[in-house]
Amino acid sequence: MAILVCGGAGYIGSHAVHQLVERGEDVVIIDNLQTGHRGALNPAAKFYEGDIRDPKALDKVFMENRIEAVVHFAANSLVGESVEKPLLYFNNNVYGMQVLLEAMVRHHVGAIVFSSTAAVYGEPKRIPILEDDETNPTNPYGETKRTMEKMMKWVSRANGIRYVSLRYFNAAGALEDGSIGEAHTTETHLIPLILQVPLGKRDHITVFGTDYATPDGTCLRDYIHVIDLADAHLLAIDYLRKGGESDVFNLGNGHGFSVREMIETAKNVTGKAIKVEYGGRRAGDPAQLIASSEKARKVLGWNPHYADVAKIIGTAWTWHKKHPNGYAD
Ligand code: UDP
Repeated sequence: MAILVCGGAGYIGSHAVHQLVERGEDVVIIDNLQTGHRGALNPAAKFYEGDIRDPKALDKVFMENRIEAVVHFAANSLVGESVEKPLLYFNNNVYGMQVLLEAMVRHHVGAIVFSSTAAVYGEPKRIPILEDDETNPTNPYGETKRTMEKMMKWVSRANGIRYVSLRYFNAAGALEDGSIGEAHTTETHLIPLILQVPLGKRDHITVFGTDYATPDGTCLRDYIHVIDLADAHLLAIDYLRKGGESDVFNLGNGHGFSVREMIETAKNVTGKAIKVEYGGRRAGDPAQLIASSEKARKVLGWNPHYADVAKIIGTAWTWHKKHPNGYAD
């Protein structure tokens, strides 16, 4: 039996495929390569170029392979873009999930591990954030992911599909050998943008807001290594294989690092000067997002290995140095 990875050519998807293949799983990927990269595809996985919104493409995959479970990463994931183009996000993310679940029902596939996000919480009422805290997304990206979770909940009750939803905090880093990593056509994430300065691709990094109610006035985020995230998917598959009930888990390290601390750490890791400018707040950025991942540790047995942000930034630096132009190199 195989694991179907939807979006296996993307950043987190390609790392999850790597870990699945390392463990000896049979892996099938479907990806429309809109934001994913051909160069990120694992040669040990069987690849279908196709869109999850196309029921015929899904039927072909489910008919040609014996799929045991689906791991679903195929979605648009940029907060700013989602504010400008909400319907793009509702179409690809929410409608995509509907078509995928319909295909799973048609083909009697009963388990799904879903890529969710801390953005489902919106502005948190308390820190660290727990899974049953209120969800009140402040942007369409978070709204679509929350809607996808709700869709799974009702489908699980009606059709018996069991799901695990993994709410990632700030995914970062790359596979240690630098062979796969983060490559977005429009980069908006802090660590890749910081590293573009020592790479000579950007003159400076702009800090978005210095007047937050945090120790140094800049936002605190919980950075979690992409391989630790990937490993949580393997544990979630094991959990569902053992008959575990549908559930939701936060994935983070449980420590907040400020934007200033991240820049200082990047200076140390790269050994290069990084020019900094200070700008206003970016709309929709909560002051702090820090996870409690106790539930994932306890129930899934998850034990993240990269608690040190210098190590996380170090793996990203290895990837970006080797591939300054992403998968074009
Ligand atoms: N950030 C920043 N400058 C940038 C990009 C991001 O100061 O050029 C800040 C952003 O305001 C947030 C943190 O870095 O506080 C992490 O942002 P990112 O977009 O990486 O992830 P998010 O937390 O929005 O998912």
